[in-house]
Amino acid sequence: MERTRFFRRPVVWIILVIIGAIALSSFFTSGPSYHKVDTSVALDQLNQGDIKKVVVQDKEQTLRIDLNNPKKFGETEATRIEAQYPYQVGDQVWNKVLEAKAAGKISGDANTEVSSDSVFLTLLVNLLPIAVLVILLLLFMSQMQGGGSRVLNFGKSKAKVITKDTPKTTFADVAGSEEAVEELQEIKDFLQNPAKYQALGAKIPKGVLLFGPPGTGKTLLARAVAGEAGVPFYSISGSDFVEMFVGVGASRVRDLFEQAKSNAPAIVFVDEIDAVGRHRGAGMGGGHDEREQTLNQLLVEMDGFDTKGGVILIAATNRPDILDPALLRPGRFDRQIAVDTPDMEGRKAILRVHAKGKPFAPDVDLDSVARRTPGFTGADLANVINESALLTARHDKRAISNDYLEESIDRVIAGPQRRTRVMSDHEKKITAYHEGGHALVAWALPHSAPVHKVTILSRGRSLGHTLVLPTEDKYTQTRAEMIDTLAYALGGRAAEELVFHEPTTGAGNDIEKASALARAMITQYGMSSKLGAVKYGTSGDEPFLGRTMGHERDYSDAVAAEIDAEVRALIELAHDEAWEILVEYRDVLDSIVLELMEKETISQADMARICARVVKRPPMAPYNGFGKRQPSTEPPVLTPAEKESLTVQAAADGAEATVGGSSTNSDGPR
Ligand code: ADP
Ligand code: MG
Ligand code: ZN
Repeated sequence: MERTRFFRRPVVWIILVIIGAIALSSFFTSGPSYHKVDTSVALDQLNQGDIKKVVVQDKEQTLRIDLNNPKKFGETEATRIEAQYPYQVGDQVWNKVLEAKAAGKISGDANTEVSSDSVFLTLLVNLLPIAVLVILLLLFMSQMQGGGSRVLNFGKSKAKVITKDTPKTTFADVAGSEEAVEELQEIKDFLQNPAKYQALGAKIPKGVLLFGPPGTGKTLLARAVAGEAGVPFYSISGSDFVEMFVGVGASRVRDLFEQAKSNAPAIVFVDEIDAVGRHRGAGMGGGHDEREQTLNQLLVEMDGFDTKGGVILIAATNRPDILDPALLRPGRFDRQIAVDTPDMEGRKAILRVHAKGKPFAPDVDLDSVARRTPGFTGADLANVINESALLTARHDKRAISNDYLEESIDRVIAGPQRRTRVMSDHEKKITAYHEGGHALVAWALPHSAPVHKVTILSRGRSLGHTLVLPTEDKYTQTRAEMIDTLAYALGGRAAEELVFHEPTTGAGNDIEKASALARAMITQYGMSSKLGAVKYGTSGDEPFLGRTMGHERDYSDAVAAEIDAEVRALIELAHDEAWEILVEYRDVLDSIVLELMEKETISQADMARICARVVKRPPMAPYNGFGKRQPSTEPPVLTPAEKESLTVQAAADGAEATVGGSSTNSDGPR
């Protein structure tokens, strides 16, 4: 009698758990240690297989492998080995682990750990004093109200679950982010027809990261996926994980994923993931804190999903740049979807979504509202419509009129939540010429990457931007490509000078980049014929960023002057080239500007149409730094495959196959 009641008390259990924990932790910490081996040896073991478990410790840069059977390592025999790998190869090591896992060489877990401390031990150390307090508190509470069970729930996830009964958000509620919606449609399809994808051996993504400025509809998109996929949707905010008790966040994560897995197929949505996923050491306090443990647990859970489990993690952030690289490793957030500020068409569509079901005066033109609101996000536009409805109600009117819409726009612009500037028309035109200048120059240059997108929507500090994307991965750049990059960088400034007869501050960043690049070409890459293949400056990584403080200059004043002159000559050359292109194709530039003013963003296809008559320029000032060294006239050797394709082409071309330089190579070796 007496005894059973004793064991029913939570206090007793807590004390027992603590005693047990101490016993267990001393057991764990005194467990067999890891035998140190070279990274290559450890990777070799990964290849050989027969592995029980692998842990990659990001912070300590160690790779720990538990083997199923003891193996010989030099003199010793060991089942647990550990290798210290250099920081730079972290991703490669992880890729090897993934490969081994995929090849079935690892029977158990393969995890990344952010912090190596045993979660258990840290939990214990952190929790011990708190536990004592909690016990006291519990005693009091059970005295006062006869039960303190609620307190014991603090490690449970706070996730809100959306099920079939919650009012649905659908993709139709999201406007102006077609690309994001398209990507997410696919996720929905994965969840609905997993068999279709598995039959093809396709890997279903584990994680989808939505990133973009606040108010652009990331949370909305995630809810739409939930509404459309018809599966349980667990939504939690990153900040919910971060609590004052160490270990609580980690346990919430575990709990959340357990719930999701037992209800699979399901979606787990972590909003504002930067609250937990912040780059290590970026926060205050540093070290292995609560957040790192939570992050660790999140990584472990993500690695633990098997792809058939049907749990997909969607996360959203405004700050992808501060996320821990471990989160972005392969096999975690396989999909990354940018959600951007909408352009004119997007704004029109969003306004229409939010105007639905609201009475408007007949003369209201939502398109003109869209025209007046460049830089507004979806949330801003929703706000405009809502404000105007409120104003209308306040004045006891029946329909929302243009006046109220105008006033609401002003309110939203002036309101505290507006961060982006709204440009005047003149400023907009200057920006359009600036970006058009970049785009046209890039289009006309022979070595520039293709123009992907041009926009005059302001992002962050810049007023607009032109995006050029290489079509393939590039690891080196030729001098010709770099000079073209210089001309491209100066294209914006040149257009301002050409058309408005004076430069603006808008080109500041371009000039900074161009100068840094030109200086690097000369002092780092030895691309100046006057200064030769010599590295000037000892400041390591970035001798060209003006960080001369504390760095020794290892060249004379005369050389410094020569470097400056060469930098200026390069910039002048590029500036001239940009200028000539703009003068030659002024009408094309004007067409780009008109289209930019109208649509704000133009695509590669638009550029191709507008620039149809633009002819690629010949290469600028070829390299002439050979001195007395005579470059070979022999072209690079051809691989068998290249020879093959040449002969195939020659056959196709028929009789005139011998025209061109290719015929010299088929003569065979000399
Ligand atoms: P984020 O999570 O990116 O900060 P939200 O998803 O919370 O932005 O957006 C806030 C609100 O703004 C949404 O509830 C919706 O009313 C509106 N909104 C944002 N983007 C869009 C969009 N693309 N289409 C329709 N409404 C939008
Ligand atoms: Mg949000
Ligand atoms: Zn620019």
